[in-house]
Amino acid sequence: MTAKIISGTDLREAILTEIRGETESLKNKYGKVPGLVTILVGSNPASQSYVSLKIQTAKSLGYKEIQDTCSETISEKDLLDCIESYNNDENIHGILIQLPLPKHIDEKKVLYAVNPDKDVDGFHPVNAGRLMIGGSEVKYPPCTPAGIQELLVRSKIQIDGSEIVVVGRSNIVGKPIAVMLMQKGAGANGTVTVVHTGTKNLDAHCRRADILIAAAGVPGLIQPQWIKPGSCVIDVGVNRVGEKISAKTGKAIAILRGDVDFEKASDIAGSITPVPGGVGPMTIAMLMKNTLRACKYSLGVSS
Ligand code: NAP
Repeated sequence: MTAKIISGTDLREAILTEIRGETESLKNKYGKVPGLVTILVGSNPASQSYVSLKIQTAKSLGYKEIQDTCSETISEKDLLDCIESYNNDENIHGILIQLPLPKHIDEKKVLYAVNPDKDVDGFHPVNAGRLMIGGSEVKYPPCTPAGIQELLVRSKIQIDGSEIVVVGRSNIVGKPIAVMLMQKGAGANGTVTVVHTGTKNLDAHCRRADILIAAAGVPGLIQPQWIKPGSCVIDVGVNRVGEKISAKTGKAIAILRGDVDFEKASDIAGSITPVPGGVGPMTIAMLMKNTLRACKYSLGVSS
């Protein structure tokens, strides 16, 4: 293995330490801490575990955190009323709706009901529009793409002028990271190509990437021979390919694989993120960063 490993787990700790310090300063100066509510509908085990990780992290930073768990059968109107109550709560700066929602609820309607100033996930069309405009318009970059950009910047990967290929065009990963890295400005200014299932010669596009961002959700899609020697490979894919018994707990846990064959790619790339332990840990850190920003905006403190 020759590639440098870009560890999201290590970088997350550095970022959370910075956030903890800023939270302490806000508390001392203004008597306020960031407030985050996570709204979970039903009892999907995967959603429960994501929410509990977010809550634990928020608590560890000294945030005010509320977990609002609603019944699987909550009506759409009651859920919208619940969101409205947090929109009007001055101690809550960030509202997070854990997806997926039950089928009888219109997901779009619910996400769009969040006040864009409290939309720390960055999914509201107002924030998507701000991201497109770029620069000082951006309030809340969506968390996974923000985590990818932060990984690149903190690992001192050359973005400016680089050929960047993004595999995937979803609204939560592919499109926003492409927009963020093509903007004019620091931590960006790349030449971005987005590829998808309609792309001809996927391999040829990948081969010329100085930075290859794989966000397809297909285990092992990116063949080692598609990787440009010395390039940076960011593997966003989190694919469950089986189960194993945890030596620690004795319980069954998922075996996760990325979109890239890590072992083989590590002999070709200059740097690479592992799965797990790469992009994943950064996503929660960026959620916390957006919540801190939301609190600062509400206090009129520049971010
Ligand atoms: P998604 O909504 O399913 O989008 C996948 C994208 O990849 C689509 O644009 C699709 O193209 C493209 N694609 C799929 N198969 C392809 C192929 N064979 N060749 C070329 N393009 C292909 O997925 P997502 O939500 O963006 O997530 C992508 C992956 O990232 C998943 O594994 C997910 O679990 C992971 N993820 C990780 C984090 C994290 O925090 N680490 C966060 C979010 C997502 P079309 O548009 O043509 O269908």
